[in-house]
Amino acid sequence: MIVVMKPGASADQVQHVIDLVREYGLKDHVIRGTDRTVVACIGDKRMVDKGAIENAPMVERIVPILAPYKMASTEVKKTKTQIEIGPERFPIGGPRVGVIAGPCAVESEEQILRIADAVKSVGAVALRGGAYKPRTSPYAFQGLREDGLKILAKARERTGLAVVTEVIGLEHVERVAEYADVLQIGARNMQHYPLLEAMGSAGKPVLLKRGMSATIDEWLLAAEYIINAGNPDVILCERGIRTYEDHVRNTLPLASVPALNSMTHLPVIVDPSHGTGHAYMVPPMCRAAIAAGADGLILECHNDPEHAMSDGAQSITPAALADLMPVLRRIAQAIGRDA
Ligand code: PEP
Ligand code: MN
Repeated sequence: MIVVMKPGASADQVQHVIDLVREYGLKDHVIRGTDRTVVACIGDKRMVDKGAIENAPMVERIVPILAPYKMASTEVKKTKTQIEIGPERFPIGGPRVGVIAGPCAVESEEQILRIADAVKSVGAVALRGGAYKPRTSPYAFQGLREDGLKILAKARERTGLAVVTEVIGLEHVERVAEYADVLQIGARNMQHYPLLEAMGSAGKPVLLKRGMSATIDEWLLAAEYIINAGNPDVILCERGIRTYEDHVRNTLPLASVPALNSMTHLPVIVDPSHGTGHAYMVPPMCRAAIAAGADGLILECHNDPEHAMSDGAQSITPAALADLMPVLRRIAQAIGRDA
């Protein structure tokens, strides 16, 4: 349930409600909106005397949260959550659409610095690149690991871009959080619940990819794990799901963007690289994602896709990204967003 405070409720009055809620053994999450504060209460409500809380000073009403994902739901918060990332604090979920670009994997310092310069110069706000790679085959390139993280940090220092990189195991959380601005939880780990819980105290925003066979409810419940563990900064990333269709690597269901925008206040971005598997499909699906209302994109961009150590076939070149960016800006403007 959520306790909706009247506009103008003081900090002491909100605290009084929190104290009451805690007395009933419930967990409280306070959400401060622009004109009013709500206190979301999670836990077993059977013994709660709702009337006692409802009569507390400056309480407007109590409403049940019907969605199974409580904190992520628009029932708790109507306005979009903005999550500031990187040294320039770019707000994902704000009026401007944010583009995150970079190679699938960190391969060398020379490669990363070159791509970072290129994507920065055309207006990307963050650099992606895996230092720890979750590969389907144990014989495939597994990433440069901590050396890769150091290279990404160097690219951030040089360009001001935020660094988005994946954390694949519990044992790496602290190390990756030390270097990254945004921690990516990959599709394969969307239901790794201990890892999701560890994100609660990682101290950095989380980019949570959709599991390749996850429903939207399961995905939002995965986000709920992170929020419930203490980290409200979750960015959802639609990266396609596995279907019978084999013309694409994954089927990219862009209708999940408007669905999520009505179900959750969390920012939603789209990954058309993993969502299609083919570089030529990436620009059209980027355009479609922005038109559908995505708050941003994460895409793979490589200076030499033919020789990439992973996912070259779905990586666009910096030149293709340079052509795409002004088009995305025009689409963003056409639907009333800033470019
Ligand atoms: C990636 O971003 O390189 C990646 C492995 O993505 P996903 O988890 O969506 O497969
Ligand atoms: Mn990849």
